[in-house]
Amino acid sequence: MEKITRADLARRRRIDLYKKIIIGLFFVMTITPMIISFFLLVKVHSLEKKLDYVMSGNGDYLTYRSSHDALMGNTENEDNSYLLEPSVKSVLGNAESETKLAENTGQQYIDSSATDNDVNTEVIETIEETGGKTSKKKNKRVYLTFDDGPSVYTGQILDILKANDVKATFFVIGKDEEYYDYYKRIVNEGHTLGMHSYTHDYQKLYASTESFGSEIEELQKLLLDVTGVKSNIFRFPGGSSNSVSQLSIDNYIAYLNEHGINYYDWNALSGDAVDSSLSPEQLVDNIMKDVRNNKDSVVLMHDLQTVHATVESLQMLIDTLKSEGYEILPIDENTPLIQHVSCNVVDE
Ligand SMILES: [Zn+2]
Repeated sequence: MEKITRADLARRRRIDLYKKIIIGLFFVMTITPMIISFFLLVKVHSLEKKLDYVMSGNGDYLTYRSSHDALMGNTENEDNSYLLEPSVKSVLGNAESETKLAENTGQQYIDSSATDNDVNTEVIETIEETGGKTSKKKNKRVYLTFDDGPSVYTGQILDILKANDVKATFFVIGKDEEYYDYYKRIVNEGHTLGMHSYTHDYQKLYASTESFGSEIEELQKLLLDVTGVKSNIFRFPGGSSNSVSQLSIDNYIAYLNEHGINYYDWNALSGDAVDSSLSPEQLVDNIMKDVRNNKDSVVLMHDLQTVHATVESLQMLIDTLKSEGYEILPIDENTPLIQHVSCNVVDE
């Protein structure tokens, strides 16, 4: 049998030590990256969630950004297209789809009275101011709006509103005589009659300031003739943040300012015109998600022949809003200006 010498023992110890060092290094080099990767995955996931939230229009980031850019005078060159789905520009040939796409995107808003970067504070103050004598505990207000009517469903919408003693706002387009009674009912039943352009044809409406002006004049005259009311509120087809218009939206805002017409965008939406497969429950869920995140809410819905789910969801929406203590009002001069592009950016 071979004798183990001291030198052998020392060598063995050294070898054991090297083994331990190698195993240690192996663990450090494999386990550490795994831990780091796991941490980064968690981080990415939480950032994605935040991004979704911000892009849904409810986050403070976009509100801050737009407001800040607006105040910095950057709106002219501002690229709002990040607010729109890529398909908006690709469907220019189809006015109806365009509207649906454009109107259901880009819903962050600026309170036009914001004068510094602290948008949230400003919004709260504005709401308190416009609320007049009301206290901070006042119910949050919700303004239901219906675009693109009158349609075959306007009567049903009006009936539901009447049965619930709720007043809303209709941004209508120019229709022929068979729809005149709906314009009249909207006014007679205490709702706000707003304008949404005569033809709702993007190519025509946004071709030039002149054509924009004639679309408004023509509709305003029709509504005055039929109802005796001169409408002085407007909603841009696609919203004031739409990227469909080739000419800067500031030109049209200047026109509206000159003619004393206020425009309203929205900060809550059902998605009714984006996806016709949405159930009434989903429409209500979508709206409530936005409404609960807002101070006050202007809700975008559609009075269109193609979206009956809106009519079906209306009773449920009203019940939910009432049960959660919201006050449902028609748009009037006290309504906070919920605008994607602030009218105060344009001097005129
Ligand atoms: Zn529309």
